[in-house]
Amino acid sequence: MTPEEVRALLERKGALLSGHFRLSSGLHSDSFIQKFRIFEDPRAAETVGSALAGLLAPARPEVVVSAAAGGIIPGYVVARHLGARFIFVEKEGGVPVLRRGFSLRSGERVAVVEDVMTTGQSTREVVDVVTAAGAQVVGIGAVVVRGRVAFAQPLHALLEMPLADYEPQDCPLCRRGEPLQDPGSRRLG
Ligand SMILES: [Zn+2]
Repeated sequence: MTPEEVRALLERKGALLSGHFRLSSGLHSDSFIQKFRIFEDPRAAETVGSALAGLLAPARPEVVVSAAAGGIIPGYVVARHLGARFIFVEKEGGVPVLRRGFSLRSGERVAVVEDVMTTGQSTREVVDVVTAAGAQVVGIGAVVVRGRVAFAQPLHALLEMPLADYEPQDCPLCRRGEPLQDPGSRRLG
């Protein structure tokens, strides 16, 4: 899958929004990826998941680990294509952990799969949980990477789409008086 095809799929699914958004970081941006609009279509999830699995397969992962909730659908699809197990990390009292009886064996080969990566924070948390469990991260896959992120492990992205973001006081959209939308808490058109 080429980056152009991924971008076209996001647009077709209404996942790529243009406007004036307050991101969860507090910064403002002129674009936002409403990622679940991709995954609400199982065929689209299948398309991106199989493409990501193709990039991760050479590392021979035995387990795919994602962060809840956004990574669960793509991670699951990738795992199915790799013939790997799938588990996810979630927060308990603000701390990322494996729950629900999920565990990793020492030395197990793990691929970490993300949906949209911006700061890389949740990916780093998953990597830390995997490493603390004694398993090894052999690759990281993301549908879209929006920021400058660096990992010790190889990172594979289907689409790199750098995010233009601004501190509220420097935001050109605020200056133009564009209405601000909060994609986290409001339904967007
Ligand atoms: Zn603004």
